[in-house]
Amino acid sequence: MPDSDKKIIRVALPIPFADTLSYLVPDHLCDKPIDIGMRVVVPFINKQLVAVIVSLSPGDYTKNLKHIIELLDKDIFLPLKNIEFMKKVHLYYLQPFGEVIFSGIPKWFKNKNNPELPKEIWWQVKENFSDKEIETLLKSEKQKNIFNYLRDYGPLQSRSMTHVDSSSSSQCQSLFKKGLLVQSELCFVDAHPPADPDFTLTTDQQKAFDAINNSSGFNTFLLDGITGSGKTEVYIRLVKQFVTNKQQALVLVPEIGLTPQLFHEFAKRIHGRVAVLHSGLTDAARARAWQKAKSGEIDVIVATRSGIFTPFANLAIIIVDEEHDLSFKQQDGFRYSARDLAVMRAQFENLPVILGSATPSLETFNNAQNGKYHWLKLRERTNKQNLPAIKILDVRKHKMLKGLSKAVLGQIDQELQQGNQALVFLNRRGWSPKITCQDCGWVAECDHCDTYLTYHKYMDRLRCHHCERIYGIPEFCPQCGSQKIETMGVGTEKLHKGLAENLPNAEIIRVDRDTVKTSNQWQKTVDEIKTGKPCVLVGTQMLSKGHDFPNLTLVVIVNVDNSFYSLDFRATEHLSQLMIQVSGRAGRKHKKGQVIIQTQCPQNEFFELLLGKNYQEYATHELKLRQQVGFPPASFMSIIRARCKDEKKLESFLETVSNNIPQDPNVSVLGPIPAPIYKKMGQYQMQLIFNANNRKSLHQSLKNALTMIRKDKIDNGIIWNLDIDPVNLS
Ligand code: ADP
Ligand code: ZN
Ligand code: ZN
Repeated sequence: MPDSDKKIIRVALPIPFADTLSYLVPDHLCDKPIDIGMRVVVPFINKQLVAVIVSLSPGDYTKNLKHIIELLDKDIFLPLKNIEFMKKVHLYYLQPFGEVIFSGIPKWFKNKNNPELPKEIWWQVKENFSDKEIETLLKSEKQKNIFNYLRDYGPLQSRSMTHVDSSSSSQCQSLFKKGLLVQSELCFVDAHPPADPDFTLTTDQQKAFDAINNSSGFNTFLLDGITGSGKTEVYIRLVKQFVTNKQQALVLVPEIGLTPQLFHEFAKRIHGRVAVLHSGLTDAARARAWQKAKSGEIDVIVATRSGIFTPFANLAIIIVDEEHDLSFKQQDGFRYSARDLAVMRAQFENLPVILGSATPSLETFNNAQNGKYHWLKLRERTNKQNLPAIKILDVRKHKMLKGLSKAVLGQIDQELQQGNQALVFLNRRGWSPKITCQDCGWVAECDHCDTYLTYHKYMDRLRCHHCERIYGIPEFCPQCGSQKIETMGVGTEKLHKGLAENLPNAEIIRVDRDTVKTSNQWQKTVDEIKTGKPCVLVGTQMLSKGHDFPNLTLVVIVNVDNSFYSLDFRATEHLSQLMIQVSGRAGRKHKKGQVIIQTQCPQNEFFELLLGKNYQEYATHELKLRQQVGFPPASFMSIIRARCKDEKKLESFLETVSNNIPQDPNVSVLGPIPAPIYKKMGQYQMQLIFNANNRKSLHQSLKNALTMIRKDKIDNGIIWNLDIDPVNLS
């Protein structure tokens, strides 16, 4: 057949510029069933790429059209419904269609040579053994450890237990042979449906459950519940209901560190097949969960942000836990918000979506207040304990010992004496965030970034937390030659040392990216803390979320003052969320909790609003401020960020963009302005901030800008990106 008579199809490619491209269907594929959503291999420049067919409507023939090389699927790979959803996403975020489609497809499927997915084995203990039987059956310490671990945390794959025993795989096999474990290819259904715990839902929980359960079609619910109010229990009961009706649920969680906990709770309680999906898994494991959700062989997916793109056979509900969390926002490449997409997808598929949080984002809070979302409130802790009492400690009036006041150290000691745990939180790792010259005030900075260098004592080096470059400590000040070079300020490493010096008998566990590097290490640390032994935890953000440490009674927040000087209008919102989340770690089970915040500005009205009243008061107040100044959520914002080694070129690029887009009274364009960190990794960073009073005008302006950049190719040598609904200004 001559080329001009051949069928033409359009495909989406995993490349960041072209939207979709046309290819010819060669003779040898003519009689094969070719359909939208199947994968093909196509030539592109001098490579062969896996692409997805997105349209069969005949395109115009041109001479330089190339042929498809290979058809990879016999059935639909990506369902039409997903392609249509991706189309909406592409139009909202103004990102190339191919890039959008492929961010929702596991890597495994992008390689045409990948074989069938390998099988996996999940282990779980058989419930019906008495302790005595186990004692007689299990002689080996190794087997006991694995068995007990599975009893507490199962179902698991053996490779997730290598930190318990390096031979976990063979231990599982032996335990299986002894009849103590059951195995499954999927996680997990076995013969004994698990029972609900013996409590009934509180009135508020029941109300929330009923409201969601009795709703039909698309509805967004804000489950606004203080920490420990039983939000998870509401999720579980709802999901159970759907799974019993042979429907599927998608649960989005902020971070990998959190996934195991919620995952185990779901896996234990729901008589269904539950899978996790996050970036810590192997390519094959991710592909498998994705595939099985699509085929309906899995009932529940607990996933981090990219899970929002998973295809489902019969999806019935989407839950976003800790909806305020910034990790739902993808911060590079295609910058989407999984939380916002959850709402968009629920609307597209006509389903309920639940956004759960103790500290809703102002965006969500605003939508609840103006009635767009149904606002469900849980205001009591299930253990009837009050939220922890919060004390403000004015550090100007106290002598500090390596970052902690004497009073605080005394309090920590007292908790330990009573067999409790304490948590000391500081969002800054290393020994100290600066080193300076006492004589002239010089501060060590990174040569490649606009930042101070952090001193890490364990390696006796300075380190840039932006580019991770390492520097030696200068013996003399490079500015005045003085030898009086001192560290300044406190990081977690120094706090740890201070605690060890002042509480010599205490066990201290430090948790930050320097001490906990892998998810196995993290799991091990969490397990250790959960034994409940008296100890002090010192750490960063990693400790702030999700985990339930029943024996934790005191939380100390070391320094919050930087946020008060931040240029980002969301700084206090993020600070208040962090403070409440960290505080929420205290007093979760039967013990009363206490929180101490060390600050130099105790008078700040922020404390009065947040602590004197509550998060809702703070959010209402903050929302009014945003309305007054016209910032999100009272406006719609986007940023074009750009970077380049050449300062002049960078500025003129953004200037050209801003000068050439048609003026619109509804959109203000600010910039070019330097990014908060002007120089990073040797490149200058600037931005244009678009702020509009309606979404339509904003999108029109952005489209104009993009068309201009792409058409006139003024971005020569400049790296730039578009961030719609940015969550920070950096
Ligand atoms: P949240 O997710 O809101 O922080 P959780 O769902 O983790 O709270 O609940 C906190 C604790 O309360 C859990 O240990 C949970 O088992 C328990 N719990 C939940 N609902 C109830 C209830 N109705 N009665 C008693 N305990 C409950
Ligand atoms: Zn000096
Ligand atoms: Zn640097």
